[in-house]
Amino acid sequence: MMSGNEWMPGAARDPVTGGTMEGQPLRSVVWHTSESGHEPGAIRGVASWVKQQGSEYHLLWNPWTGELLQLIAASQSARALRNASAGYRTNRKGTRLIQVCVVGRTAERPLAGGSPLIGWDGLRAWLASHGIPETDRTGSRGRARWESSGVHRHADAPGNDHTDPGPIDFARLYGNPPAAQEGAPMIVIRNENSGTQWLVAFHGRAGIANGSDSEQLRKALADPMHVAVVSQGTYDAIVAAAG
Ligand SMILES: [Zn+2]
Repeated sequence: MMSGNEWMPGAARDPVTGGTMEGQPLRSVVWHTSESGHEPGAIRGVASWVKQQGSEYHLLWNPWTGELLQLIAASQSARALRNASAGYRTNRKGTRLIQVCVVGRTAERPLAGGSPLIGWDGLRAWLASHGIPETDRTGSRGRARWESSGVHRHADAPGNDHTDPGPIDFARLYGNPPAAQEGAPMIVIRNENSGTQWLVAFHGRAGIANGSDSEQLRKALADPMHVAVVSQGTYDAIVAAAG
C-alpha cells in the first residue's frame, strides 16, 4: 500500500503489469530517450510501440510539453534494458530501479540543455519520494556501479549497447536546490504504520527531509497532491538519508 507513491501524481496512466524486483537495498533512476519526435501527443505512440515490443519503461516524459504517462508501478520492474547475462537481470536490481524515457532523441541532448525540461520539478520530487539519491553514477557499464543507488543511463547499463539518453547536465538538473525558492517542489511522506510525517525538500543532491514541524510542512500538507503514503521501509530509508 503506497498510494500516491506507486503512481506519480498528475501523470496519465496506461497500466501494464511489471516484474518483481530482486530487492537489494538499491534505489535508482535510469534515463532513456525514445528516439522519436516530441510533438504534442507523440508520447502515446511511444507507449503503444514499447507495449508491442514488451520493452516498457515505468514512465514516459515529454520535456517539451510536460506530458507524463506512467505504464508500470514504481515498485515493480520495467523491461527496457537487456539482461547482462542469463543470470544478471539488469531491470530487476534493487528495490527501486525507475526507468524514465524522455520522449525525444539522444542527438537533441534533451537532458543537457536541448529541451526546456517542462515538468521536471514534479518528476524530481516524485523520484526523491522513493528515496533515490541524486548521485551521478554515469560513466561506465560496470556492475558495481550499476548496483549503486543514484542516477543512471541506459548508456551505462551492464551488457547493453545503447547510448541513450546522451549526456546529462547534472548542474542543470540537480544542482539548483529548489527548496530554497518560494514555491519549490515538496512532497510530504507519511509513514503508513505510524502516521509520522516528514517534508521532503531538496538540498543539493539528495531529497532531504526538513523535519516534522515547519511552516513549509504545513503549506505542503494543504495540498493533498503533495502527500505520499509510504511503507515503513521507504520512510526509514528517506529519513536515514536525511541524516
Ligand atoms: Zn534506452
